[in-house]
Amino acid sequence: MPPETGDLRIVAPRLNLLNLQLLNLNLSLTPTSMSVITVPLEPISPTRSGQLVVFTGPSGVGKGTLLRSVLPHHPQLHLSVSATTRSPRSGEVDGQHYYFVSRSVFQEWVTTEQLLEWAEYAGNYYGTPRQPVVEQLEQGKTVILEIELEGARQVRQTFPDALQVFILPPSLPTLEQRLRGRSQDSPESILKRLERAKVEIAAAGEFDVQIVNDSLDQAIVALETVLFSPDRRESDQLQDDRLQDDQLQNDQLQNDRGEESQDNPDAL
Ligand code: ADP
Ligand code: 5GP
Repeated sequence: MPPETGDLRIVAPRLNLLNLQLLNLNLSLTPTSMSVITVPLEPISPTRSGQLVVFTGPSGVGKGTLLRSVLPHHPQLHLSVSATTRSPRSGEVDGQHYYFVSRSVFQEWVTTEQLLEWAEYAGNYYGTPRQPVVEQLEQGKTVILEIELEGARQVRQTFPDALQVFILPPSLPTLEQRLRGRSQDSPESILKRLERAKVEIAAAGEFDVQIVNDSLDQAIVALETVLFSPDRRESDQLQDDRLQDDQLQNDQLQNDRGEESQDNPDAL
């Protein structure tokens, strides 16, 4: 597990993303060469207001596996517990893996706006309880929402600053193998999930970051780099500052022009 401060040196295959050919879903990823990246790591400060992270990818791609590997090492990360109308899988605990609720309770939570986002997926409803997310963000935590595409799109509207991460499988056959190998869903549910996977993968480009979960170890390093690199926030801030500077310059120009045209009514 990498340190939480200092520099992290990553040696990783440079993926040729053009090979993704997302539109026809040929996901063969070719490592073209090895790259060495040095990333300064800083812990996310508990004093600044928390960051929302949307974590999306097709069912079976390994989202849960990745989060279970990363979360125990970083107490500043908080995984939101969703509500769902689907039945618990063996080993799933109410209030820990999900809040397992009836359709009528779910409907009530939608009506009373207790959900930050929600969607129907493979015949069941899934949604993020709003209050715990707000509380954790207020405490400066980084809150992770592990949600499907429609929910991610809703969060993009309501929290445009959220970091949006998409997890890709190395290929569709590998995704199917993982879904079947997990032995947790019925054959019908697996088919629905695979159908939905094609739509979700085609939308991967909407997200800020795409990580291919081929080698689990490399995907863990990539995810930690994305979560802990200050680069994104710094570049966002730089961009905001630049936009503000541009706006100030425009205002100044318009003022100057206004004064000129008062002095000289023929001036443009
Ligand atoms: P998700 O949460 O995205 O639905 P899971 O985390 O349940 O997916 O993973 C689905 C299956 O794939 C699990 O059996 C898991 O052990 C396996 N898996 C996850 N990541 C990898 C990987 N990098 N290589 C091989 N198998 C993996
Ligand atoms: P599963 O049934 O495999 O646990 O989850 C199915 C899908 O629902 C996954 O893609 C998962 O990310 C998504 N999901 C889980 N919780 C939520 C949620 O609160 N909102 C939305 N929109 N999707 C969720």
